Amino acid sequence: MFKHILLAYDGSDHARRAAQVAAECARTHGAVVRVVCAVEPIAADLGEPNFSRVAGERRLAGERCVEEARQLIGEGVDVHTEVLFGPAAAEIITVAEVRGCDLIIMGSRGLGGLRGLLLGSHTQRVISHAHCPVLVVR
Ligand code: ATP
Ligand code: MG
Repeated sequence: MFKHILLAYDGSDHARRAAQVAAECARTHGAVVRVVCAVEPIAADLGEPNFSRVAGERRLAGERCVEEARQLIGEGVDVHTEVLFGPAAAEIITVAEVRGCDLIIMGSRGLGGLRGLLLGSHTQRVISHAHCPVLVVR
């Protein structure tokens, strides 16, 4: 049923569990997994050489993040990775639609500190606005 899964990964414990669910789901359905990690965009007024340095550092952090998810997913699943510059929820929603993903898998919480909340703000936004089903992993 699902052929193209988008895994939103921020390195949190919930996202790690989401990666395991994505791997199982992909094996069951023969789906491709697209792992995305959104990093903070760079302020437009940051001049050179700082712009390139900060952009490079953030891209590297994002690449480490998606590679960690690739390791968690393991062998036997076709995995694509993307580092996105921008607010996570908006980027996840856009990529899912543009790439034609048919399922988004993400954690209920992430790296944020407000333990009392049931759902993180990015998960709330994605559930509310995504064009496809969203599987939230606790
Ligand atoms: P908040 O960020 O609202 O303070 P939180 O960090 O606990 O709270 P979210 O950020 O909504 O909660 O994280 C929930 C899930 O969203 C994560 O498990 C992950 O799947 C996804 N997510 C969060 N941030 C990113 C990101 N930068 N890139 C990709 N996915 C993300
Ligand atoms: Mg967060």
